[in-house]
Amino acid sequence: MKGSVAIRVKSAKNPFRLDAVGMEIRGVTVNGRGFKFSHHGAKGKLTVPGVPKTESEVGVRFTKRVRDDVIFGLYKSKYGKEHLLVTDLEPAEARTVFPCVDEPSYKAVFRLSVVTDEGLSVISNTPVVSEKAEKGRVRFSFSPTPRMSTYLFFMGIGKFEEATTKSGKVNVIAASRPGQGTDSEFIRKISAAVLKDYELYFEIPYPLPKLHLIGLPEYHTGAMENWGAITSREHYVVLRSDASDSERRNAARIMAHEIAHQWFGDLVTMKWWDDVWLNESFATFMEAKVLDRLHPEWDTWREFLRADTFRSLNADALSETHPIQARVKTVEEIGSIFDAISYGKGASVLRMLETYVGERAFRKGVSAYLRAFSYSNASGEDLWKSLAKASGLPVTMVAKAWITKPGFPLVRVKASAGRVKLDQSRFSLSERGSSELWPIPLTLLSDGDSQSVLFDKKSTAITAKWPEKVLLNPRRTGFYSVLYDDKMYDHLAKSFSALHSHDRAGLLNDLYLFLQAGIVKPEQYFRFAALSGNVIDPLLSLAVSDHLVNLRAVADTSDVVMRTWSSFYGSQVRLLGLVKKQGENENLGLVREVVIAQLAKTDREFARKLAQRFEQFDSVDGNLKTAVAVAYATTKGEAAFGPLLKLVKNAKSEADRSKVYVALTSFEDPALVTRALELTISGEVSRSDTGYSLPGAASNPKARSALWEWIKSRYDRVRDLYGASQQFYLYLNAVIPRCGIGREADVHSFISGRRYKDGEMTFRRAFELLEVNSRLRDRLLSA
Ligand SMILES: [Zn+2]
Repeated sequence: MKGSVAIRVKSAKNPFRLDAVGMEIRGVTVNGRGFKFSHHGAKGKLTVPGVPKTESEVGVRFTKRVRDDVIFGLYKSKYGKEHLLVTDLEPAEARTVFPCVDEPSYKAVFRLSVVTDEGLSVISNTPVVSEKAEKGRVRFSFSPTPRMSTYLFFMGIGKFEEATTKSGKVNVIAASRPGQGTDSEFIRKISAAVLKDYELYFEIPYPLPKLHLIGLPEYHTGAMENWGAITSREHYVVLRSDASDSERRNAARIMAHEIAHQWFGDLVTMKWWDDVWLNESFATFMEAKVLDRLHPEWDTWREFLRADTFRSLNADALSETHPIQARVKTVEEIGSIFDAISYGKGASVLRMLETYVGERAFRKGVSAYLRAFSYSNASGEDLWKSLAKASGLPVTMVAKAWITKPGFPLVRVKASAGRVKLDQSRFSLSERGSSELWPIPLTLLSDGDSQSVLFDKKSTAITAKWPEKVLLNPRRTGFYSVLYDDKMYDHLAKSFSALHSHDRAGLLNDLYLFLQAGIVKPEQYFRFAALSGNVIDPLLSLAVSDHLVNLRAVADTSDVVMRTWSSFYGSQVRLLGLVKKQGENENLGLVREVVIAQLAKTDREFARKLAQRFEQFDSVDGNLKTAVAVAYATTKGEAAFGPLLKLVKNAKSEADRSKVYVALTSFEDPALVTRALELTISGEVSRSDTGYSLPGAASNPKARSALWEWIKSRYDRVRDLYGASQQFYLYLNAVIPRCGIGREADVHSFISGRRYKDGEMTFRRAFELLEVNSRLRDRLLSA
């Protein structure tokens, strides 16, 4: 690829420096005159001495080879023998595509033009303003972008198929490879509604005339918020009529998240990557908020609790966690902070702050903040000041404590005559607690009465009429866990079916944390897990299922684990049935999909019946497809591999493939699981599919050894494909803590020679979780 940039510089430092990695610099001009330069390829710095201090224009001509073996930066997103040439630049890949100052606070207006072969179209952040023939080729010119950071730039070239829906004056355009575009109506409609709703909430109109939603055949993460040109995995844009309920909800959440970024991140950007949580926490919080307004029947806070609050509590329970506001000094460290803390914990703390200041003041403060810093950069501090002004409350003090301290508090509750005694300390899975205290906006429910206090001391006592019936953190709006005394647990067990769904699930998630930390007897957790099996409650069922999947992955030979597994999934399947009942709650389909697939992994007789439906896989209900494929794999063994592989290759959608991978990684024979892993890394199928095969294999206890051996042999290949991106570390986080059980020394010695600096935090966390899992396994096997 040949390129040139002309950068208008207001006042240049001497020497003038640009970031330019993986390209050859052909010449530099300043105000039209040739200038000497030096380019240090390894450091990625282009230095031009003598650029005048006054306003001037620096021109750089360069060439760049598009690599074939990566799926980030500028890459070929392949389908069959064809590809779309696209960019994915967060956090620091813009410098690998064109010379620039690649830092979020160096905002600029981009004017792009692209010369390409005839028959192709080009998509960028803004609309095309002209398309002209030029020496047998075509030049596309785009209207200028708003002032924006480099990581938000997008360019896509290829044969795109498009479909448009209006949201007020804005065109919401779905784009995908040919033959995929007709099934984008669901996502266009919901995105248009989301866009309109944000305009009202933020009181700031979306500034561009169009918003592209681009589904790509090969994609390394979930989605990316490029201003005006959101990119994502294909199945978040293209949803066929047989898509399952969870696919539709996920796609809606992903797009609501990326659209929130058009304000939080794109319009107002963090000054530096240590505040990336500001982008991610806000988008995560807003996605739940907007969908709850548009579709209250979805009960979006339910999924928020499970996917964001509970998961981030689990991640934050490690001693090797990091504060929400992470310390990021170098570009290399950025990849590993796109994690559960920056997304889920940050969003949960925002939810807690919203409860603390009230919805109205919160919205007012957010809107004022966005208006004050539009087209510019801001820090967390600026947001707290705005919220404090809007509410008159000490927001800065409370918020600061929560975003700068790693971890979260455990509140121990003891009932005594006429009152409850509370004590707080940092919770840790590794018993490496500290004496830190948090200002906890704490709510207490006692016999229908609710009391709120700011609990910021080591201990306190609160008067209550029925102390043993007290419930803390109702609806789970607070980011802390609660350990009750035995009598209170007995009462909670008795009143379990009458508790609010969010409270039941919160109780189970806390007990699961305590089980891992070894601070409650295993019986206490399993007693409540057994109660959960008999209740129809989407949040509770999915939360407990998350626990059981992990418990089986680390201790599948434990009696109590496998007994609970069989009875929990068995009861759930009996209660829900295999098909949707008329008039049933909308969210039950989500549970049915999961519990049937899990039961099919271990219950042979159940699986045999289900596997008979495999012959008509295409016409199987979307919510049952995963289970049918799994049942077929577990009952047929090796003979199932060929037909399943054929399904992957001929699948009509990425969603269908993702379901078949659950089956391909559920085999009891580890050699078959390795074959599935090999398939996704070889390029024989979409290289995005490692996103399904790796986590799938990591949850199969029979494949632990095989997966570890495979990782050892393919480590460098996986690293090359993903670079230092968050995806690479997500995989290591899934693999090391489970596969390392029983081979700790081998894992440590293998990784010690390959500890990339950019992943230090991930490695430390993965090893700590491995220790936690090994201890948990020992406890469960002797329980
Ligand atoms: Zn995001």
